[in-house]
Amino acid sequence: MDVRIENVTMEFQNTVAVNSLSTTIRNGEMVSLLGPSGCGKSTTLMLLAGLYKPTCGNIYFGEKNVTNIDAEKREIGMVFQNYALYPHLSVLKNIMFPLRMQKVPKREAKDRAMEMARLVQIGHLVDRKPGQLSGGQQQRVAIARALVKKPNLLLLDEPLSNLDARLRLEMREEIRRIQQEVGITAIFVTHDQEEALSISDRVMLMKDGVLQQDSIPQEMYRKPINSFAAAFIGNPPINFLLARKTEQAGNYELVNSSQIIKLPGYLNQQKIQIGLRPENLFLTDKDNALLTGEVIHLETIGRDTLIRVQIEDVTIRALIDPSIPINVGDQCHLGIEQDHVHYFDTENGSNLE
Ligand code: ATP
Repeated sequence: MDVRIENVTMEFQNTVAVNSLSTTIRNGEMVSLLGPSGCGKSTTLMLLAGLYKPTCGNIYFGEKNVTNIDAEKREIGMVFQNYALYPHLSVLKNIMFPLRMQKVPKREAKDRAMEMARLVQIGHLVDRKPGQLSGGQQQRVAIARALVKKPNLLLLDEPLSNLDARLRLEMREEIRRIQQEVGITAIFVTHDQEEALSISDRVMLMKDGVLQQDSIPQEMYRKPINSFAAAFIGNPPINFLLARKTEQAGNYELVNSSQIIKLPGYLNQQKIQIGLRPENLFLTDKDNALLTGEVIHLETIGRDTLIRVQIEDVTIRALIDPSIPINVGDQCHLGIEQDHVHYFDTENGSNLE
């Protein structure tokens, strides 16, 4: 089922939690709502669930306008961060619960709950109580319970937040597998950019209630629409450098450093913000260098070495090949491929490419 959000605004007293939001989530698509705390992710989810009515705008499920339809009638499955399982009921009864509420006969409810339990791979745990399960297993129960009524839409609100790092990885793959196997349209709220990029077909990045960028994960990473998107996506975070135009065409001087860098001819701003992702920088020789500085810090993270390089009053981070010998105190030359350099307007942050 397609979900269409049309110019939806949600105001609480003095706060505009969601501001003129419009998008379409296509049938079978998994979309992440991503953004910092307070950007309006949960409010958007509540609006879709029918737990809030928008101040203005409309929401459509398929062709049907559901803006004023109550939550119970929207045929939605929801999964929360805290699982919200009934502790006194067995796993099977937890999964059966929504069906029993609908007065589905016991035998049928049991069969359907068992089918869901197997789908989420907890078929062998159905007689236990939630308290006898690990966090990941409890989350599987919550997912099975959300799907048992065969809803049209699955809403997931930070479902992995209570799990440790390894389990988060495992469960995010599982959620994706289950969503694809069932073929359900799903919306996944998270503030974790890596999670959003890895789990979804499309990412909607929000800030202060306003949708900033709505694109496929690769594009979100490669073509950030503005400096906020560039800063929010990527780890370690992108380096920003401020540069000022010099008398000589195409040459810009870094603010807080006397280094000159050449920028493409189409850029003619007096001041410009340059974005360099640490993983795009590499060590090179003087002739091919974009920047030169002193290594002030060095650490191994996973397969890469992270270095911090001081360029007069500017510090930047680079992820480099650990097989290249380099030490704190060394001079180094950093290069980057031209198409990996991002340029932003210093006033409004928009990407100038
Ligand atoms: P988090 O990641 O912290 O859950 P979020 O992105 O989900 O944040 P929302 O919970 O949607 O953000 O909140 C968006 C804005 O609306 C915030 O400024 C918040 O304080 C405000 N807000 C949310 N719910 C209410 C409410 N019931 N009454 C008043 N203000 C609210």
